Amino acid sequence: MNNPVLDPRDLRYVLFEILNIDSLTQFEKFASFDHDTFEATLDLIENIAVKECYPHFADADRIGCSWDQATGNVTLPDAVKKPLKAYYDAEFIGIVESPEIGGMGMPQTLGAACGEFISAAHQPLLMWGALAHGSMMLISNFGSDELRKTYIPKMMAGEWGGTMCLTETQAGSDVGRLTARAVKQPDGTYRITGQKIFISAGENDFYSNMVHPVLARIEGDPEGTKGISIFIVPKFLPDAKGNPGKRNDLKCTGIEHKMGIKGCVTCSMSFGDNGECVGFLLGKEREGMKIMFQMMNDFRMGTAVQAQGVSSAAYLHAASYSKGRLQGSALKDMNNPSAPMVPIIEHPDVQRMLLWIKSYVDAQRMLIYNMYYNMDLGTVLQGEEAKEARAIVDFLVPVCKAGCSDRNVLITSEAMQMFGGYGFCCDYPIEQMMRNSKILCLFEGANGIQGMDLVMRKLLMNPGQYNYSVFKKRINESVELARKNGIPAEYIDPVIKGLARLDEYVEKMKGMAAGMKFHQILSGATPFRKAIYMLAIAWMHVWSLAVSYPKMKAIAGDRKGAELKALIADNREAAFYYSRVLTSRFFIREEFPQFFGMMDALFSDEWPALEAFAEAFPGTVEM
Ligand SMILES: Cc1cc2nc3c(=O)[nH]c(=O)nc-3n(C[C@H](O)[C@H](O)[C@H](O)COP(=O)(O)OP(=O)(O)OC[C@H]3O[C@@H](n4cnc5c(N)ncnc54)[C@H](O)[C@@H]3O)c2cc1C
Repeated sequence: MNNPVLDPRDLRYVLFEILNIDSLTQFEKFASFDHDTFEATLDLIENIAVKECYPHFADADRIGCSWDQATGNVTLPDAVKKPLKAYYDAEFIGIVESPEIGGMGMPQTLGAACGEFISAAHQPLLMWGALAHGSMMLISNFGSDELRKTYIPKMMAGEWGGTMCLTETQAGSDVGRLTARAVKQPDGTYRITGQKIFISAGENDFYSNMVHPVLARIEGDPEGTKGISIFIVPKFLPDAKGNPGKRNDLKCTGIEHKMGIKGCVTCSMSFGDNGECVGFLLGKEREGMKIMFQMMNDFRMGTAVQAQGVSSAAYLHAASYSKGRLQGSALKDMNNPSAPMVPIIEHPDVQRMLLWIKSYVDAQRMLIYNMYYNMDLGTVLQGEEAKEARAIVDFLVPVCKAGCSDRNVLITSEAMQMFGGYGFCCDYPIEQMMRNSKILCLFEGANGIQGMDLVMRKLLMNPGQYNYSVFKKRINESVELARKNGIPAEYIDPVIKGLARLDEYVEKMKGMAAGMKFHQILSGATPFRKAIYMLAIAWMHVWSLAVSYPKMKAIAGDRKGAELKALIADNREAAFYYSRVLTSRFFIREEFPQFFGMMDALFSDEWPALEAFAEAFPGTVEM
């Protein structure tokens, strides 16, 4: 199959050769699966992504979603509806969920791989499925039996969709400032009033009903996050048979006109204009943030998957273009104006650009899948091993969410660079990928907030810095594996040195925390988060080298130069491992040295940003 969005060989390398997800089938939870079921699932999702989703990617953007002011209704283009139907027909919404609620119960790692496929082919589409899935799981985990019985089958079948309704004009990053209100009724339901903005998938004509998890404050409850509760607010109240009945008092009051992800509508929603918006409490009163955090955490991980999908597609498009685009002549012919033109992949700077992109795409896939794999391990292992698995997930969530989304913007930009001026035009999908990429840095907790989460909650406030100690332990395990497998020291030592440097800064931060220097800590939170991301990427390359280098050697032996090139041209497996090794060498030797500059900046102890205030930026305009 001509697959322009994701290299299935690389995906299988990560799943089966690096992580060995087949080993999960030894545990009862996954005992009904085997390698063949995993393979069949991957084949199916590839088919859907490439044949049913990708062909609609451009049209979903060009046609977009439309809103009718008179009715508040939103119409989706067929370019969204058709692939979304294919996604549901293949039952991917329940792929990792328990069979007890109608799911397939597959490993989260496999679910992440499927998500990457869909995102690579049609990024906004993944958001529809993810929002329906996330809200369904809130009901599954925290809803009453009645809610579970009525809503889950409809959502699993793709008849009803879902959203997450947190944001208000004054309550973006600071959700605790929300003003949406709830009043308890004698029948146990609540009446909801309030305005939410930026609600993805809020209104549409695909689903017959929408399920909105809404954060609101019950009258009399305290201000701030502690006083927030969460309610399920359906668009249509289910009737006695569980079908969409009376229209609830809520409407879509407008949609955003956006730079990208135009295939997933972003709505302003008004609840309770007539005082009759019915909501059903999830969990207990004032537990809203704790409950919603489950969905937010899943979405932060999912944002990394989305970013990875886009990066993967951008890489494959750039790589393919570079092999076909003729421009300039070979360096050896530089003085011969009539020399034949060569594909741009033969120019050293283009080779560098492509390796740069690939070095992040390859390693991010490993890092993200490794996070999900540990999520799986956390559910099947016992005692300390399970604790460790959960700790590394906890630690990696902000690293992956922010690191991969930040890098995705740079990757799509560099991929466009490889297209020259053609990349800036709408003839190639790369401009759409670049426009789609930025949102991933902004929602699900803006990336600045991720840095603060990493430094404060995941590291300094984590008792004994346990999460961080597991992160180090895992890196050291990869280092040992690389040594054992004969990887030359020049590809291992930088990571060991990097870890030592990071350790020094963690100690310094602990000292700053003891001295109440939180302004300094927070001023350094994003640079620190970016440095950890770089180290995590280098860790993945060391790990990958430990696996791919011996395999390449086994195929290629001591071949060099023309002999090696001839083998690679003829042998796809040799080409795969050669490419993996080359990419890792590039990253560790040519990209990773930046890490040490990033750390030096953190150690500079000058903190000029803390001396900045509004008037230090003269010349700003009124907005
Ligand atoms: C296309 C799109 C889809 C969305 N989908 C949804 C959805 O489905 N549901 C939903 O509820 N919301 C959704 N959102 C909202 C999104 O989650 C918010 O935009 C995001 O949380 C940031 O809030 P804000 O836009 O108000 O920015 P602000 O909170 O004003 O932040 C602006 C900048 O200031 C920084 N900042 C803010 N506070 C601090 C602080 N205390 N310390 C340091 N830095 C800080 C931020 O990092 C950011 O860089 C969506 C937004 C968009 C654009």
